[in-house]
Amino acid sequence: TPVVIAIDGPSGSGKSSVSKAVAARLGLAYLDTGAMYRAATVWVMETADLEDPTSVATAVRAMPLVMGVDPAAPGVELDGRDVATTIRGTEVTTNVSKVASNLEVRAELKRRQREIIDQESSPTEAVLSGGRGIVAEGRDITTVVAPDADVRVLLTASEEARLRRRSLEVHGAADASAVDATRDQVLRRDRDDAKVTSFHTAADGVVTVDSSDLDFEQTVQAVLTVVAQ
Ligand code: C5P
Repeated sequence: TPVVIAIDGPSGSGKSSVSKAVAARLGLAYLDTGAMYRAATVWVMETADLEDPTSVATAVRAMPLVMGVDPAAPGVELDGRDVATTIRGTEVTTNVSKVASNLEVRAELKRRQREIIDQESSPTEAVLSGGRGIVAEGRDITTVVAPDADVRVLLTASEEARLRRRSLEVHGAADASAVDATRDQVLRRDRDDAKVTSFHTAADGVVTVDSSDLDFEQTVQAVLTVVAQ
């Protein structure tokens, strides 16, 4: 029967790349819920008033978003446009916590995420397209979106390790000045996100994998070990 794997964690924990690799190796679909909040932010910046919660919620409810679930090429299509690169931009990263703190936005995206998870893990899907389930990753998947998942993992890492990884991603370097340039933004976003989602401590029944001293492959193996248990 199809399996649902939920993975939460802060930025720089390696969550996205590890989740993608786990999905690819197990032949599962993949859902990046952070990409949905990022796409919502692009849509709000284009069509609504970021400072007006009602305008933000209305825009997101009408957002024409199509999420791809192939771990090898997870597409993000907004109103027919490929926004996979746009959603990683600095301005989007700066504004995303504001959009994500809107409770009506969260309810709408949770509903859409649940729909994708249910679709990909339905017995019908398993028969018709060989669908074997899905890996969904974010901040509140183990607790709010899919607390009933078969496997629930919290991927953590020390602040030092997370800043080093984010610095490499964003600046292509992890020397002291690059890490400093990353620090403020990462820590501020963590603080803002922690007000609405609790991804710093594992909920009951959620297995913590600490990637601080693991390389990418070791982290993937650690998660696969949890899945196999
Ligand atoms: O994972 P990523 O850094 O791309 O997520 C972008 C933002 O989306 C987070 O900083 C957070 O504000 C929001 N988010 C969320 N709940 C999720 C996933 C992401 O609030 N499940």
